[in-house]
Amino acid sequence: MDIKSLYLDELINEMKKIGQPAFRAKQIYEWLHVKLVGSYDEMTNLSKELRNTLKEHYPLTVLEAVDSLVSEKDGTIKYLFRLKDDRVIESVLMKYHHGNSVCISSQVGCRMGCTFCASTIGGRERDLTASEMLDQIYRIQMISGERVSNVVVMGTGEPLDNYDNLVRFIRILSDSAGINISARNITVSTCGIPDKIRQLADEEIPVTLALSLHAPNNEIRKKLMPIARQYELSDVMEAFRYYYERTGRRLTFEYCLTEGINDEEEHARELSRLLRGYNCHVNLIPINPIKERSFLKSDSNKIQKFKNILEKYRINVTIRREMGSDINAACGQLRKSYMDHSSK
Ligand code: SAH
Repeated sequence: MDIKSLYLDELINEMKKIGQPAFRAKQIYEWLHVKLVGSYDEMTNLSKELRNTLKEHYPLTVLEAVDSLVSEKDGTIKYLFRLKDDRVIESVLMKYHHGNSVCISSQVGCRMGCTFCASTIGGRERDLTASEMLDQIYRIQMISGERVSNVVVMGTGEPLDNYDNLVRFIRILSDSAGINISARNITVSTCGIPDKIRQLADEEIPVTLALSLHAPNNEIRKKLMPIARQYELSDVMEAFRYYYERTGRRLTFEYCLTEGINDEEEHARELSRLLRGYNCHVNLIPINPIKERSFLKSDSNKIQKFKNILEKYRINVTIRREMGSDINAACGQLRKSYMDHSSK
């Protein structure tokens, strides 16, 4: 029983079982999700006896920061957290003018196998629980003293491959009785699993959805992402349209530019045709080369040209600012190097 993964009404029921009134459950919920304490001993309005019972029956999930790296360029901080089974995950705090954003992991490792990504090399070890996702944000807010206003589920893992925990996480994160980060300030990035996208559309938690598109057609997409062999791009695009229709949230498409693979002018034109009629925003991402693969970053002129073509077709497009490039902030690289080291 992971007490930090429970909704308030579930916590009330759980506390009832040990003879505690509803208001106690509310106090505990507030300690966990508003005051973000890391132990029962800090819950000073509970009796010592109750704290001992809780310790015994409901061990708290608290992530332990084992390493952090601070970017000298832009203040981005990358954290490496140890889970209770000694596995490690990483999360990133990015400071923007409009507020602080945390990028969290949704799984330990990933089984999607994207060819350019460091997070997937060792496969998926396990899913993260809702409380492990929440606690990445809670610990970062406590350690850094910075208020977190935006959350992006873009770290290691495929969030829609851990669907139930993801939905639980979002509901607790956006609960007005908790840390209260509104769904509008939460972005979930997916490699594109059509039935899960539709399911999420029906949950009535209107988060921003981002698709890791990375190609203007399925032929090229297959070379980069094994998931494209399972689902036709047209199915994924239909599911995204449905998401927009249900939630009214503008869609985001992420497109990693990779030298010689998807960065030609004809690709930009094909992409514009693919996105015609979508209320969307395209994020162009210069690929971050990883040492295990030979992909190269497209040069900045080419990226600019690509952007200009999309703009000509009246598509909203930005080139993603590279945050924390001096600390390897991208995609599983700190975790990977930590594990390479500790296994030697
Ligand atoms: N599984 C989800 C979320 C995690 S990946 C997804 O696929 O969207 C988060 C983003 O980082 C994705 O857009 C992914 O394609 C991108 N990414 C992975 N490796 C990268 C690299 N080496 N350089 C740039 N972006 C990368």
